Amino acid sequence: MKLSIDFSALHRAVAPLKHTVLEFNITSQATELVSIAGDLLKGQVLGRDIQLEDIDGTQGILNYNGHQVMLYIPDQGDDILAVLNDGKQGRRIHIAECSTLELMRNTGRFGRYDVISRMDGMFPVFGSSPETGETIEGDADLGVCKNCLKVLNYQRYDDLPWADKNTVFSDFNFESFFESYSSFFKSLPASSESAKSGYTSNWPAISARVRRQLNYNCEHCGVDLKDHVGLLHVHHINGNKTDNRRENLRGLCAACHKKQPHHGHLHVSRENALTINNLRRSQHKFDVFDYDRLEEFSDTALEGLNSKCRRYKLPIPDLGVMVKSGLKVVSIDLAWPRSKVAVLIKPDDQSLLQSEGWTVFSLGAAMKQFDQFQKQVR
Ligand SMILES: [Zn+2]
Ligand SMILES: [Zn+2]
Repeated sequence: MKLSIDFSALHRAVAPLKHTVLEFNITSQATELVSIAGDLLKGQVLGRDIQLEDIDGTQGILNYNGHQVMLYIPDQGDDILAVLNDGKQGRRIHIAECSTLELMRNTGRFGRYDVISRMDGMFPVFGSSPETGETIEGDADLGVCKNCLKVLNYQRYDDLPWADKNTVFSDFNFESFFESYSSFFKSLPASSESAKSGYTSNWPAISARVRRQLNYNCEHCGVDLKDHVGLLHVHHINGNKTDNRRENLRGLCAACHKKQPHHGHLHVSRENALTINNLRRSQHKFDVFDYDRLEEFSDTALEGLNSKCRRYKLPIPDLGVMVKSGLKVVSIDLAWPRSKVAVLIKPDDQSLLQSEGWTVFSLGAAMKQFDQFQKQVR
């Protein structure tokens, strides 16, 4: 006997909006992370609560209403017990505009998918017990879709030999993933752990002193942030926020800070990232450029594309390039000035650049139509 239970009430339940305010140090801009509406944390039914055409996959990753989302099938059928025990046995989580989504878009047909946005790696699932037919539900640590990893070239998945691909798959962490692409979004979902408490009460004074001593220069890339002091953070090297010995502290620009391990909730806006790259460029921090340095300094969201460009031996792109168009100045995320090709994380300035003779690609288009893209670049 199979029990059929209607989960729609559960899926419709909407938790109140939560706000998490983070402050790295008192004079830096407070980095505010507003968690998404609770309904997306629980999953919304595709085709009923959220329509497929409202999910934008043009940048490769999935964007619903300014939030990064994933798609998955919560119904695990007879496998439910095995899946609750080991989520990697279950159906996969889609994080990108992969062939599964393309097929759904092209055919207009899809099974019972949920749209969800959370970083803890746990997903509500259900199924029926093979013995009793009873419905069983719980949370499972489902694995990520390998096609999605390939489409994004996430952590160079597509460029790696088979064994290393598997490591990327098994070590995949949703929090790091969201963090990598945060410049595409206004906010990140709330983390399972409360991220940024634990500073000592004298931290603002200590942080201010360190930054003053450094003359507001980043200790990693050397960018001078005198005119943007809020973009210089002070990082605890060993991760212990009560250990304020000078040797445990490092003054880092927001972009370098974001690249430190375990900074899942450090949200650097695209505007701030571009400002830092513009300054680095005008201060000649980019001289003698190669792919290793590109990786060090570019937005984490561009890693997949950069790695692919390296593999195909494309000319190295420039960071921090600004183009004047009339009275406006356009900052380009990734630029090949000689061939006038630009990759933009946000398409706002696309037409301005085009009017200056540039060919503009979104990240998703550059990845998907790579052949066409590389012909333009060369
Ligand atoms: Zn997929
Ligand atoms: Zn830096």
